[in-house]
Amino acid sequence: MAIDTKQMPLIRQPIFRDKHFYILLALFIACTVVYYFGELVNLLGWEALRWDIFYTVHDPHRMLFLVPILYSSYYYRLRGALLSNIISLLIFLPRAFFISPYPDATLRMVAFVILAIVISMLVVLTFNERDKSRISTDVLRRSEEKYRIVLEQMYDSYYEVDMAGNFTLVNDAACLNLGYTREELIGHNFQIVLSENEANTVFQAYHTAYVSGEPNKGFAFAVRRKDGTIGFAESSISLRKNERGEIIGFRSISRDITERKQSEEALHSAEEKYRSLVENINDIFYILDNQGKFTYISPGVERLTMYKMSELIGKPIFPLIHPDDLPGLLESFNHPVSGKLVPWEFRILDKDGRVIFVRVSRQLLYKDGKVIGVTAVMTDITERKQMEQKLEEMATHDFLTGLPNRVLLTDRFTMAAALAQRNKDRLAIMSLDLDKFKTINDTLGHEAGDQVLKTVSTRLTAIIRASDTLARIGGDEFILVMLETGHAEDATTIGNKILDSFREPLTIDGQQLVLSTSIGVAVYPEDAQDLEALIKKSDSAMYYSKGHGRNQFKFFSDGDVRMGGDHKSNP
Ligand code: GH3
Ligand code: MG
Repeated sequence: MAIDTKQMPLIRQPIFRDKHFYILLALFIACTVVYYFGELVNLLGWEALRWDIFYTVHDPHRMLFLVPILYSSYYYRLRGALLSNIISLLIFLPRAFFISPYPDATLRMVAFVILAIVISMLVVLTFNERDKSRISTDVLRRSEEKYRIVLEQMYDSYYEVDMAGNFTLVNDAACLNLGYTREELIGHNFQIVLSENEANTVFQAYHTAYVSGEPNKGFAFAVRRKDGTIGFAESSISLRKNERGEIIGFRSISRDITERKQSEEALHSAEEKYRSLVENINDIFYILDNQGKFTYISPGVERLTMYKMSELIGKPIFPLIHPDDLPGLLESFNHPVSGKLVPWEFRILDKDGRVIFVRVSRQLLYKDGKVIGVTAVMTDITERKQMEQKLEEMATHDFLTGLPNRVLLTDRFTMAAALAQRNKDRLAIMSLDLDKFKTINDTLGHEAGDQVLKTVSTRLTAIIRASDTLARIGGDEFILVMLETGHAEDATTIGNKILDSFREPLTIDGQQLVLSTSIGVAVYPEDAQDLEALIKKSDSAMYYSKGHGRNQFKFFSDGDVRMGGDHKSNP
């Protein structure tokens, strides 16, 4: 069942809970019985019980009604007086007019009613006045009580000082916050809780309140507690006045803001630290909005890119990115993925167009659940990248000539073989070894020998096609892997070209040298499938060339080669 709370009293009281109601009822009944006693005796024929005074003297006992009338006037005031007078009148009427009327009955009754009304009104007036003063003292007492409870229960400090600044009232919170007992504060000057540096500010605040007459709200100052520690308070000051309106002192409510101050300060010495960190590290910290425009960039960017910070703020990052890395960057920017982002390496261009390798750690910036940009830290990794490139170069290239070494050759062969197999093409694997190279070393020295190896490499590179691979795999031995398209005898053509190129003398240290080379050729896939086996066969063909007069090339498939030995056996 729904309860209408608006209609429901908080506590239901019984209607006749008041004992005075029952006393009055009893009094009225008793008075009525006494008043009508003579009539009752007559009616019942109890002559013996007749009591003359009630019978002969006309109703002096009406006076008894004064008792309930005064009683109700006292307890129920005006309402009681009116009601009891009316009830009495109603009780009198039957006897005065109908049961035993006598000549001056009406007069007596009216006289009594007037008397009763006057007396009851006097009672009402007397006690109403007393009520008023009792209520006002009660209200005052209760409001004081209320304020005292509020003061003692509030967390903020409340204190009052006189015009000299002596404490006249302090609440528990004030004692607690300042570390003094009430006795140690009352009567003592306000200065004991002021820190030396703040005294002027605080006096100024009190002075302002005094001069303006307005409460001075929300001014903060440092307080010195009993134990010497410094706390912070935010106060409001207002004036205390006496009944004549004269200023007699000040009252103040203070909130302890020590923790807030401390955390504000901690945040501020942390902010400074981070700012100087961001500004001094070699890394660059930047923030982009969701258009990719710089909203912040740390000063390190000027060292790295030669751009001034002012040239970048508000401009998009994209023109800085190396064109080859831009599509990837745009893709990730347009489709941001939440969560931890993996650091990312790409290239940027400085103001002069120089390539800088950078590594960037990013974090998406959110507001109301939406991505509004990105914060990032950029590290210059150019040196590391260059080192990596160098190492990779060294691992795959010959140091002296810069040609691919055996590692890269194997790699290139694997790719070329796969391609050739798909296209049903063939590969020629050519072994070249310079003829009598040792003599150069012996006669002109090792450095001249090196020079010869470099020059030969350049010449050979000029002859071969871009898709072919020339590698130096030993002292004066080179391997060429080249594509044999269809049935054209590409290897023969190139072989002849190489031999021809050697006819041109080399100028080393101002001396002209004539050099030749011996070449052996093996063919994939006929002669062998893997590089090792192919080189073995092209080597034997090369050795055959050596052994048979040098400065020539031979296919392994030549009958002579397969039958014969190498130059070592036929010097
Ligand atoms: P052949 O015609 O039989 O090949 O005779 P050769 O003198 O060329 O002898 P071989 O190919 O067997 O020897 C190559 C020489 O190359 C041996 C070594 O002293 C020299 N050599 C190896 N590596 C280098 C190098 O890096 N620089 C120089 N200058 N000489 C090297
Ligand atoms: Mg040689």
